Amino acid sequence: MNFLETRGLEVAYGGIRAVKGVDLTVQSGELVCLIGANGAGKTTTLKSLCGMLAPNQGEILYEGKSIAGKPSYELVRRGISLVPEGRGIFGRLTVEENLKIGAYVRHDRAGIDADMQRLYGLFPRLSERRVQQAGTLSGGEQQMLAIGRALMSRPRLLLLDEPSMGLAPMLVQKIFETIRRIAEEGVTLLLVEQNAKLALEVSHRGYVMESGKIILAGPARELLGNPKVQQAYLGG
Ligand code: ATP
Repeated sequence: MNFLETRGLEVAYGGIRAVKGVDLTVQSGELVCLIGANGAGKTTTLKSLCGMLAPNQGEILYEGKSIAGKPSYELVRRGISLVPEGRGIFGRLTVEENLKIGAYVRHDRAGIDADMQRLYGLFPRLSERRVQQAGTLSGGEQQMLAIGRALMSRPRLLLLDEPSMGLAPMLVQKIFETIRRIAEEGVTLLLVEQNAKLALEVSHRGYVMESGKIILAGPARELLGNPKVQQAYLGG
């Protein structure tokens, strides 16, 4: 059984068809990326997977069960968490308050405290800034906080939308290192990225999306070596 699978997934905004029949799979423990140009439908695909958008057609199976159209709060409880594009942190709240919000579906106080400590180990910068207002963090720190907040729900499937967006190259490297570590801890990841090179370098497998459809799929290493991918997404 596939951990996550979409079959013929279609998502539209009114009359605008953004996702036009996407089939993809993610196995438990895999790190899979979805790459493609602006407007290809990557974000829309992720939003349908985490319950922010209901598909018009097709099926989404998570651990073999249909989740299409189920509300986000239910999916978070079942282990699916999204780190949205633009991060969506609460700027007026402190770092620690933001992290606590990430754990809102949980009731295991001791586990939450333990995870908070683990997160501070993973992101020492956040640890130093526990009581700082999140809106005053740098871009990279905000991205770390957004990832940390999603991890506080103890996801089994983490959906990351453009984690490198707007970050300086050094910070992008840092974020990708973190993504690798999260994957090594056993969290399954589906990563949407504009930075195709870094995404493919960190992933096991990749999908290339164009105009709402998957046009290429395969092991990340093969995609990195694919002339079509190189020309269109890796700058020649
Ligand atoms: P990017 O990398 O620029 O974020 P993307 O691959 O994530 O691109 P989507 O954001 O999924 O692409 O957008 C797919 C298509 O759907 C685009 O043509 C976009 O203009 C359209 N779209 C996205 N959101 C809406 C919306 N709320 N209403 C109408 N059309 C939308």
